[in-house]
Amino acid sequence: MSLDFSQDFEAPIVTTSLTPQDEAEASLRPRTLADYTGQEKAKGNLSVYIEAARRRNEPLDHVLLYGPPGLGKTTLAGVIANEMGAGIRITSGPAIEKAGDLAALLTNLAPGDILFIDEIHRLNRAVEEILYPAMEDYAIDIIIGKGPSANSIRLDLPKFTLIGATTRAGQLSSPLRDRFGVQLRLELYTNEELTRIVMRSAALLGIEIDPDGAAEIASRSRGTPRIANRLLRRVRDFAQILHDGVITRRAADDALGKLEVDKLGLDALDRRMLTAIIRNYAGGPVGLETLAATIGEEAVTLEDVYEPYLLQIGFLTRTPRGRCVTQLACDHLHLPLQKPQQDQEQLSF
Ligand code: ADP
Repeated sequence: MSLDFSQDFEAPIVTTSLTPQDEAEASLRPRTLADYTGQEKAKGNLSVYIEAARRRNEPLDHVLLYGPPGLGKTTLAGVIANEMGAGIRITSGPAIEKAGDLAALLTNLAPGDILFIDEIHRLNRAVEEILYPAMEDYAIDIIIGKGPSANSIRLDLPKFTLIGATTRAGQLSSPLRDRFGVQLRLELYTNEELTRIVMRSAALLGIEIDPDGAAEIASRSRGTPRIANRLLRRVRDFAQILHDGVITRRAADDALGKLEVDKLGLDALDRRMLTAIIRNYAGGPVGLETLAATIGEEAVTLEDVYEPYLLQIGFLTRTPRGRCVTQLACDHLHLPLQKPQQDQEQLSF
């Protein structure tokens, strides 16, 4: 049986990408390591590096932060700057178009400053090559003039720290990756950590919420603080109108039901993806590109934004031959998993 996936779906409320509704995000960003919930492993290591650099009165080594969107990479860069007492400049890979743009940014840094480059895997080659000597020797080579009379001069830079963030560490060229002395992977948050984040955000926004209400929002936020904060604001609207303004478990459940965020935080695209694997590919394996074409989505979006959570909750597995759904996913979607005879035999070796 084949399904029609061509119809348009609304932008999902549980997207991990930044949306216009998230513009108030900055006010919810923790400023210190102590206030930054979760990511204990990354935080533990970072606090040692920060303390050591501070005692030596040197800038921190260059830091690469990687992991799915919305987990707190930009926030952590701000925390590092704050803990180091340093200034921070924020830019992104696609925003730096020419080598000259990066040279201008670098030469304007003050000693000890942090340069944060989001989506660093999207830097173009020419720009990336300026970064190598900048990171290694705190210098850049600038070519002046053209043709045979062109001259290269070396400009010294102040000692600075580069913090790069990426959803895909694997796409970074190895010369660039190797120049980061500190590489930290951010993980999806546990429900307990997200509950704490929701309680903290509610306090900052002056929203009345009880711990069970926070836990309900947390468990439907796909392990992602950005989604938790967004759901909190939307649930508040429903609670104000329908439940005396207090977010209880019932109020949260009611609102999230109306927003079509299911018990596990899955949205229409998750369901389309899982349903396509079950119905069109007998549960898998199916290659990522084929799957992306089937549901009319980009493969990178599926891989970076959707898969991490589906893998974490055990709905999806990755095999060398492609993606497979699990029995858990079929139970959740109330769809039977029908393996073709031939595949069943192959699987039972
Ligand atoms: P990324 O850069 O990884 O896409 P951000 O740093 O922009 O993610 O984080 C998105 C939002 O989630 C921030 O506004 C912040 O309020 C919240 N957030 C992220 N990490 C944490 C954390 N550890 N504790 C509390 N809030 C967090």
